[in-house]
Amino acid sequence: MTTTEQIAPLHAEMTAWRRDIHAHPELGFQETRTAGLVADRLTAFGLEVTRGVGRTGVVGTLRAGSGRRAIGLRADMDALPIDEANTFGHRSQHAGVMHACGHDGHTAMLLGAAAYLARTRRFDGTVHFIFQPAEEGLGGARAMVDDGLFERFPCEAIFGMHNRPSLAVGRFAVRAGPMMAGGAFFDIQVTGKGTHGARPEAGIDAALAAAQIAVTLQSIVARNIAPVETAVLSVTRLHAGDAYNVIPQTATLGGTVRAFSRDVMREVESAMRRVATNTAAAFGASADVDFRELFAPTVNDPAEAEFAARICSELVGADNVDRQPPLIMASEDFSFMLERVPGCYLNIGNGDGAGGCEVHNPGYDFNDAALPLGAAFYARLVETRLAARA
Ligand SMILES: [Zn+2]
Ligand SMILES: [Zn+2]
Repeated sequence: MTTTEQIAPLHAEMTAWRRDIHAHPELGFQETRTAGLVADRLTAFGLEVTRGVGRTGVVGTLRAGSGRRAIGLRADMDALPIDEANTFGHRSQHAGVMHACGHDGHTAMLLGAAAYLARTRRFDGTVHFIFQPAEEGLGGARAMVDDGLFERFPCEAIFGMHNRPSLAVGRFAVRAGPMMAGGAFFDIQVTGKGTHGARPEAGIDAALAAAQIAVTLQSIVARNIAPVETAVLSVTRLHAGDAYNVIPQTATLGGTVRAFSRDVMREVESAMRRVATNTAAAFGASADVDFRELFAPTVNDPAEAEFAARICSELVGADNVDRQPPLIMASEDFSFMLERVPGCYLNIGNGDGAGGCEVHNPGYDFNDAALPLGAAFYARLVETRLAARA
């Protein structure tokens, strides 16, 4: 019997967990009900459960045999501040909050794998099931790492998975090396000297300096970053002035930078500081740059990506594993775990048919048909990586 067939009897239960979590979404670091549900399930399966890792994170530990090797499997639990547009029975019961990124499904898949592995225990070693809070921009992975995640639960490798709309159910996508971009937000405060709108010579126009900075920033990706590298610098905010007859004393710019390596991110940052301060100075103004790197690039270890792809191929056939999916400019907070422990992040198909909907959309829903496959991936990965001695 294949792993997928052995997991199939858990499908109804996984669906029930998933829909329960979907109906009760919680924002980052507020996942108390979800964490409680996860911890209760893991305890019922017979795992050793540690709560409150990185505030609302949960780790379930399962051992079998006498092997000393350990791996980590990670799911995220948080929802988004979006008003759900769906009308089905398991729609969000909390106005303004919904599982629009499928973290309800990620949690249910990992719970399914834990239930199966706790029952069968056909492996030799330790598996840490890591349920992280606050993936959506609030730094939940970093909070768990800073709380000693890998010191308290050492892992030789770590794996995580995100659903992908537009990829058919039954397919996986996995690539070695960079996969998702690192992300930073920035604010630039420009200070000039306010004056009457009709007397520009008496002041320093912060709005003009800010406008010139916004234009010149666009030269960085074009002229300072090597053409074979990838980066995005978007100015998404520009604020100055309140009146028609006042040249403003201050102006602010803000936006985001994305890049696939820390080096490129640092090059962009230093060029931005140079451009902002010197452009402002050319007008007699000054600029203060606040650059905040929020996500590291998500970079898969080549050997671990190869291993994960092999597990996928065994489950669905090599033809259903996309080994060269396009790079994703969005960011993923699992990157902070991958910076500490080699591993692989991959995508599982959420369905490409009509009615399929992108993540972060009010009409999105995780596809329950993908649950057994996701759980089977984790289970087979454990049974292969920590193979029990015959
Ligand atoms: Zn998301
Ligand atoms: Zn997500």
